[in-house]
Amino acid sequence: MSFADLGLSDELLKAVSDSGYTEPTPIQRQAIPSVLMGRDLIGIAQTGTGKTASFVLPMIDILAHGRSRARMPRSLILEPTRELAAQVAENFDKYGKYHKLSMALLIGGVSMGDQVKALEKGVDVLIATPGRLMDLFGRGNILLTGCELLVIDEADRMLDMGFIPDIEEICTKLPKKRQTLLFSATMPAPIKKLADKFLTEPKSVEVARPASANLLIEQRLVETSSRDKRDTLRKLLQADDVSTAIIFANRKTTVRDLATSLKRAGFAVGQIHGDMEQPERLRELDRFKSGEINILTASDVAARGLDIKGVSHVFNYDVPWHPDDYVHRIGRTGRAGATGKALTLVTSEDAEAVANIEKLTGQTIERIAVQKASAPKVDETERAERPERKKRPERPRREQRDDRPRQPERRASPPETPDEGWNGPIPAFLDVGVAA
Ligand code: ADP
Ligand code: MG
Repeated sequence: MSFADLGLSDELLKAVSDSGYTEPTPIQRQAIPSVLMGRDLIGIAQTGTGKTASFVLPMIDILAHGRSRARMPRSLILEPTRELAAQVAENFDKYGKYHKLSMALLIGGVSMGDQVKALEKGVDVLIATPGRLMDLFGRGNILLTGCELLVIDEADRMLDMGFIPDIEEICTKLPKKRQTLLFSATMPAPIKKLADKFLTEPKSVEVARPASANLLIEQRLVETSSRDKRDTLRKLLQADDVSTAIIFANRKTTVRDLATSLKRAGFAVGQIHGDMEQPERLRELDRFKSGEINILTASDVAARGLDIKGVSHVFNYDVPWHPDDYVHRIGRTGRAGATGKALTLVTSEDAEAVANIEKLTGQTIERIAVQKASAPKVDETERAERPERKKRPERPRREQRDDRPRQPERRASPPETPDEGWNGPIPAFLDVGVAA
C-alpha cells in the first residue's frame, strides 16, 4: 500500500515523496483514513513507528480549508517535552510546504514574546507543552474555543510526567464538538480513563509490539569493573567502526565528567543533560548532527525526545535503573533500516538491572570481555565463551544497594520543567530505506 491510497491530497503526497518516504507505516496506514473522515482516534504503537505523520498528514489536509482567527488556534497538539514539540513543528514544515498553514510553538525555555505575537495573529496549528499552555491561558492570551481538533501525543509520557490533570483542564476549555486524537506507546489505566472521558466513539488502532527486539541492533554486555569503566569505554570508542556514538550515563554528573575526560583524551565530544538550558542543548545537538562532534554523552532525560538518526553506536556507561530506559537508549541506533551496535558496560553490581532488562526484552544479551592491552573490536573472535545460561553474580548486599539513588534522574525533575520525551526503537518493518 502506498501513501496515495490513503486519501491524502496531491500537494501532500508530493511533500511526502519529497521527504523520501515511500510506504506508510502500519499506524499511518490505519490511522490516516479515519482521521481524514473526522473520527476520534486512539493510536497505540511503539515509539519509532511513525505516529507523528499519522496525525500531521491528515491534519494538514483538514486544516487546508478554513481560516484562522486572532488568538484562536484552530487545532492544538499537546506534547510532553519541548524537544518533541519542536520535532512535530518540523514535521509540519516538512509536509506542509505546499500548504499555507500558520503554526505556533508554545514551549518552555523560549521567550514568550514571540510565541504570543504569533498567537495574536491567529494560527492554524498550535503545538504546546501543557505547562506553557496553562501559563499563557492564565494570562488570557489565548482562547481555545475555536479549537476543533486536539491531539494528545505521547500520552503515556504525559502520565509519567504528571501532566494528566493539566490535560484534563485543557480539554474542558475546548469546544465539546471537536475531533480528538490520542497517541501513546502503551495504554495504562489512567490513559484509558482519559480517553473514555474526552474522546467520542473513538476508533482504536493498535499496532502490535514486535515480539523480538530490533534485530538491526547488535547488543552486547561488556564486562568491566567500576574501577576500569572509563578505560574500558575509551577502548571501545577507539574501535574503528565507531563513527557516531551516544554514551548514556545514569547521573548528570557522570554525563558531565565523561564529556570532560573524553575531551581531554582527544575525542570530539559534546554533552546533553537536564541541567543545561534548552538553547545550549540544541546547540550541542546541532554540533552532533553537523558532524563537528561525533560523540555525545547524554542523560536519559535530555536524550529521550531527540530524533537522532544514524548513530552507529550506543554505549551504556551505566546500566539504566529502569529496563524500559534500556530499550529507549539502544533505540537510538539501528534506526530506519540501518544497523547499529549497543554496548553496555556491566559490573558485578549490575546483575539485577541486567536481569530486569533481559526479562523485559525476552533476550539474553551476549557478554564480551575487553582485552586489557589492545583496542577491542566487537566481533566473533573476541566474544568470550559463555555457558548457555549465564551465572548471575550474587545480588549486592542490601546496604550496598541502598547507596544507589532510588529514583532515576528523570523522576527527580519536577513536572513544571519537563524536558523528556521519547523516541525509541524502530521496528524491523521500517526497514524501507529512508534517506538518513
Ligand atoms: P513515534 O512518534 O511513533 O515514536 P515518529 O513519528 O517520531 O515515531 O517517527 C520515527 C521515525 O520514523 C522518524 O525518524 C520518522 O522520520 C520516521 N518515519 C516516519 N514515517 C515513516 C515512513 N512512512 N517511512 C519511513 N520512515 C518513517
Ligand atoms: Mg511520537
